[in-house]
Amino acid sequence: MKPHRQKIFPFFPVGDKNDAFAQYFIGQSYLAPISTTQVPVFNVTFEPGCRNNWHIHHAKNGGGQMLICVAGRGWYQEEGKEAQELHPGDVVNIPANVKHWHGAAKDCWFQHLAVEVPGEGGKTEWCEAVTDDAYCKLP
Ligand code: MN
Repeated sequence: MKPHRQKIFPFFPVGDKNDAFAQYFIGQSYLAPISTTQVPVFNVTFEPGCRNNWHIHHAKNGGGQMLICVAGRGWYQEEGKEAQELHPGDVVNIPANVKHWHGAAKDCWFQHLAVEVPGEGGKTEWCEAVTDDAYCKLP
């Protein structure tokens, strides 16, 4: 199979189409709740080429987000920094109040657990999309 035809074989559930957040994504993503008590954890699955818009997890104290990569190949980028390639087993610690995006590689599915780090006054601000121009330059 060619890489862009590869699908992932999920360990965690893939869940439903992520319609609630579709307006903040380019491409199709899926969302499955893994834990809804104590520390909320969601499994996010991105089709090849799918990524979320630039966004900020605001908090007054604590907060932020952890990504635990489960399957496929993806990207994480903080504003003003190079994009970082992600593989299963990688962990990304995203501080509160840092603008960033995450998503799949253009030729591969990607899946990460998203952990909501407990904090005070947590709120996500959604910003502009990652342009095709910037995204397609990634290897
Ligand atoms: Mn995020």
